[in-house]
Amino acid sequence: MILNGSSDVFAVWGCPVKHSASPPMHNAALEHCGINGVYVPFEVQPDHLAAAVAGVRALGIRGVNVTVPHKEAVVPFLDALTPEAEHLGAVNTLYWDNGLLCGDTTDGRGYIAALRSCNLVPVAGATVVVLGAGGSARSVASALAGIGCKVVVANRTLAKAEGLLSLGASDIGGYDSPAVLRALADAALVVNTTTLGMSPNVGVIPEIDIDRLADNCVVSDLIYRPDRTELLMRAESRGLRVQNGLEMLVQQGAISFERWLGVSAPVHVMRQAVQESIQGGVK
Ligand code: NAP
Repeated sequence: MILNGSSDVFAVWGCPVKHSASPPMHNAALEHCGINGVYVPFEVQPDHLAAAVAGVRALGIRGVNVTVPHKEAVVPFLDALTPEAEHLGAVNTLYWDNGLLCGDTTDGRGYIAALRSCNLVPVAGATVVVLGAGGSARSVASALAGIGCKVVVANRTLAKAEGLLSLGASDIGGYDSPAVLRALADAALVVNTTTLGMSPNVGVIPEIDIDRLADNCVVSDLIYRPDRTELLMRAESRGLRVQNGLEMLVQQGAISFERWLGVSAPVHVMRQAVQESIQGGVK
């Protein structure tokens, strides 16, 4: 990649950001499409967020992905939001539209696209159980409700789960609540959006009994490192179909890429770059 005076700059902001697979994924896509640009990581401390947004405006940064802990905090600094981002109150993509710095959220659509890529999308009316009620649970639950699923949220902290009722969840509860136990027995899809299963909680699974799930239930996990969480390993050994979070990462990135550049994202190139960066141990 040869940069020159016309090169565009894209970025990802997080704190921490070192673990991000987005730079190799987007740089591979830029190169494959022959776009004169570069995608770089910035560790932005929470109290520097306003200055970072001012930097985007001052420097003409072409596009930004924002990740934990900035997805909600960045919203007040933007000029406009897509209806989906407005609904969630969170963004993961900053882009320019007619001189306005706008925010979009691509996680939910990325998650549905990932399921679709493996023919795993539940039919409208199917019960799905979302484990967790953090930022990614909000995107995923809202997207699943948006395609007509009956979404039941299980979370350790009930007060947090309550916030998902206004995003389309039809019921919430603790892991051993009657509502959640009923939904697990019925579920076409169970998705783990908690951090249980990734470092430092490798080997830990959310408190659900895999044996309660129906034989045709799909189990998905937003975690992609490790490749198979304990939850996915147990589901697989029960014969259930599983999907990890790698494809969601790729698909949400592809939607951001298209938002910035107006060209089709080379999804296969992005997927390969993420796989290589994970195998190569990008931390
Ligand atoms: P978050 O906002 O911090 O939410 C974390 C969730 O995990 C909360 O519901 C929390 O429950 C739960 N949790 C944490 N420790 C727990 C424990 N010991 N017992 C029970 N529940 C526990 O995190 P996030 O941003 O949603 O991210 C969640 C996961 O999704 C991360 O692993 C992240 O890497 C992954 N992710 C993947 C993608 C992708 O593209 N594949 C995209 C986004 C996120 P409480 O509410 O009770 O604290």
